[in-house]
Amino acid sequence: MNRTHNNGQLRISDVGTKVTLIGWVAKRRNLGSLVFIDLRDRYGITQCLFDEHLTEKVKDVRSEYILEVSGTVIERSSKNPNMPTGDIEVKAEDVTVINSAKLPPFIIADDTDALEDTRLKYRYLDLRRPVLQQKLFTRAKIVKAMHEYLDANEFIEVETPVLAKSTPEGARDYLVPSRVHPGCFYALPQSPQQFKQLLMVAGFERYYQVARCFRDEDLRADRQLDFTQLDIEMSFMSQEEILTMTEGLLKKVMKDVKGIDIETPFRRFKYHDAMNMYGSDKPDTRFELKLQDLKEVFANTEFKAFEEGKAARGTIKALVVENGAHYSRKETDGFTDLAKKNGAKGLVVLKYVDGKLEGSAVKFFSEKEVQDLTSTLKLKDSDLVLIAAGDWTRTCNALGALRSYFGKTLHLYDPSTFDFLWIVDFPLLEYSEEDGRYYSVHHPFTRPNDEDLPLLDSDPLAVRSYAYDVVLNGYELGGGSLRIYDCDMQQKMFEMLSLSDEEIEKRFGFFIEALKYGTPPHGGLALGLDRVAMLLTGSESLRDVIAFPKNANAKCPMSDAPTEVDPKQLEELHIRIVE
Ligand code: ASP
Repeated sequence: MNRTHNNGQLRISDVGTKVTLIGWVAKRRNLGSLVFIDLRDRYGITQCLFDEHLTEKVKDVRSEYILEVSGTVIERSSKNPNMPTGDIEVKAEDVTVINSAKLPPFIIADDTDALEDTRLKYRYLDLRRPVLQQKLFTRAKIVKAMHEYLDANEFIEVETPVLAKSTPEGARDYLVPSRVHPGCFYALPQSPQQFKQLLMVAGFERYYQVARCFRDEDLRADRQLDFTQLDIEMSFMSQEEILTMTEGLLKKVMKDVKGIDIETPFRRFKYHDAMNMYGSDKPDTRFELKLQDLKEVFANTEFKAFEEGKAARGTIKALVVENGAHYSRKETDGFTDLAKKNGAKGLVVLKYVDGKLEGSAVKFFSEKEVQDLTSTLKLKDSDLVLIAAGDWTRTCNALGALRSYFGKTLHLYDPSTFDFLWIVDFPLLEYSEEDGRYYSVHHPFTRPNDEDLPLLDSDPLAVRSYAYDVVLNGYELGGGSLRIYDCDMQQKMFEMLSLSDEEIEKRFGFFIEALKYGTPPHGGLALGLDRVAMLLTGSESLRDVIAFPKNANAKCPMSDAPTEVDPKQLEELHIRIVE
């Protein structure tokens, strides 16, 4: 084709130049004997002007037709300062219709009120919208910066299988039936975890992969069934060295993509401290509003609702919202609901007005408790006090959710800042009352902290691990750990997770065997690429940075996947559907 320039390129200095442009019709206006058409391509939009000699040729042209327009660049009489090409237009001398287009189901422009499912059904049209194109360009830039950094640091990119054996990351597996082995299934990887560790056993020392992972989970705005991780593993590196390497990577990404110099090293918070102060293991520290401890104030309280909080593994904590006394009953009921949704059994709502503590719970407090509470929390007039009590984790999480809510609604932070931090010293295990067993907080390959090894049998919940998460603005960007590299310890870990010897052998026998052949100390992490892209493009949803995402119903509205299949295919796979 004869294209000489793209649609984002021409400026006032090009006036007088003969050009040929190609693009989609973004907009068309008829002004009597003149027709204006905005041509759009991935680079931008240029206005073209057709006079009476050509109006006949473009009379049937509609939105999204593709045109080739030849003409001369002229200065516009009414300039548009909002467009890079807004000083000029192209006075057409010839035009060819390259292709026609059906009327699109929605207008293709940055702002749209089309329903998301309509946009996803016609995703190829949705993706013509310049905002979405920019997001995917930014995503590509992020990946490029990552490749460059890792390459410069001697990492080797290795692909690992998609048809593999189950690897536990705490989600349900996607299974793929084997045609040649009736009744047998592959599992799609929840992550390449075991493979990357085996690459360390194999001696590669520094591995990475932009890896597709699959987890059968309920979808949320920040979850997709298939998603992409930047997966990394290193040998002979301390935890500190791994964190530093990762900081360097994120520093380069931020510089290349956003032009921002972020400060390193990132702040590090111990899991326990982050939970205590912010009620979250992925705290947004762009604003203060810390949780405050009231366990001592209520150590001897008679108040029934605080009973569980007084216990050894319990806590009693408060969140004080300055000038929050104005919230209505309906609003404070909403706060209680939010706390309950996040694990609290209830929420005590108090207001400090004219030097007096108000609220239905006050009558259960002793005079001393009221005094101590007021002084501990340094209450000021018109403060709102929200107190939760109970199991430590649940209570912290509940108040943490409220903290996030107030941070957002009271605009307590500058949304344009990027606040990176590490959470370290996660517990190794958590206990499920429901299943009556322990689960790994990270995954079963995570190495317990050497100092806590004596507690492994006596007090497993007190054992810390060498696991770490990197957090940005209240989102977990990624996480990883040092790994167990001793086969006996790995065997013991599976036992602690209540796997029988037979199960261990069947599921992980090959892996434990590999650890016996001189396994180097190693560790690594994975960054959620979709999430990094979401945050760096300021998007609300992961779907905005994935070309062809699933909707909230785990469906692809465009192709309709998942769909029923031909009975013959099922037969070949030895599968029968039971109603
Ligand atoms: N496999 C882990 C995950 O997907 C990351 C890691 O430990 O490297 O979360």
